[in-house]
Amino acid sequence: MPVAIKLEVLPASRGDCLWIECRRKQRPWRLLIDGGMPSDWPALRSRIEALPAGDRRFDLVVVTHIDADHIGGMLPLFSNKELGVSFGDVWFNGMPQLPEPVTGRTRSVAQGESLVSLLSGIAESSAPPWNVAFDGRAVTTGAHNFVTIERPDWPTITLLSPTNERLAALRKHWVKSIELLKRGEAEELPKPPTPLAELANLEQLAATPTGRDTSVANGSSIAFLLEHDGASCLLAGDAYYTVLGRALTAVVNARGVRDIPVDAFKLPHHGSKGNVIAPLLELAPADHYIVSTNGDRFGHPDDIALARVLTRRGAVKPQLWFNYDNVANRRWEARSLRDAYGHLAHYPRPSQAGIRLELSARAKRDS
Ligand SMILES: [Zn+2]
Repeated sequence: MPVAIKLEVLPASRGDCLWIECRRKQRPWRLLIDGGMPSDWPALRSRIEALPAGDRRFDLVVVTHIDADHIGGMLPLFSNKELGVSFGDVWFNGMPQLPEPVTGRTRSVAQGESLVSLLSGIAESSAPPWNVAFDGRAVTTGAHNFVTIERPDWPTITLLSPTNERLAALRKHWVKSIELLKRGEAEELPKPPTPLAELANLEQLAATPTGRDTSVANGSSIAFLLEHDGASCLLAGDAYYTVLGRALTAVVNARGVRDIPVDAFKLPHHGSKGNVIAPLLELAPADHYIVSTNGDRFGHPDDIALARVLTRRGAVKPQLWFNYDNVANRRWEARSLRDAYGHLAHYPRPSQAGIRLELSARAKRDS
């Protein structure tokens, strides 16, 4: 079967930068999710420069939420005039669209308002499009826990996060979030470095009780299911498992299926134990699990999270994809561990920036 979706997980320090192309008759439909830290812009820039000058277009750019490790590389992209990049739509929830405290209403953006003007205060004469698929209003799952976006010549996108409630929380927190962003900080406290644990009994590790992610910015993350020609990926940003779980359950009910099997699952919040829990993994069983982080500051991915992935009920030869090759990530390819859990682990090739996955088209997927 031909390749339906190509997925590149670029090096983005502790953050995300995903380059996704869906095969079409003409040029591919191109999606960029997040831009990593400000220091990751050169890697994204080189990837854009590898495109022919006449094809430097993103059909959709998604800035999942307002955190330095997701938004950093995006500001240079939007301010850049030399590369000749154009945009079909840009999804980002900024202060103008967040629900008002009393009415809960969201408003549409005005002429000239953009992500760059919002974050830099510099007015733009030709601002990129903003939340066009949502009539300029907030990107939100609204009242039904999910929204399906179907546009001509687009893959099918099922929005799973954020909810109106999470956006209302972000509104209260906006000024603090902007200050954290300007300092390049996150709400979470950095984790002190600890010696790497030996990986053995993953069932026991997976069952370790853990708290949940409480970062307001992470809770406002845009996350969605992308489906094209029978291939699919779940792109979870840094979303809460509560929000993703409720949304996926609603999709399961609407489709009258048992679960939502996907080819690839970009684990939420860089494989944090506060976001990756067993019931979420069971709702969207995947063949490939993507971990985007260099482990900086927060020690992601958590061993507990990946233990949950590999011990998921019904898992058959799951494949782990790491976009950084380091000692912590290499522990997952230990022979004894692979013999016990039957998984595979992939790392970037020495000459390659990040990792690449190709998802094949398929006629129909059994749930
Ligand atoms: Zn993040």
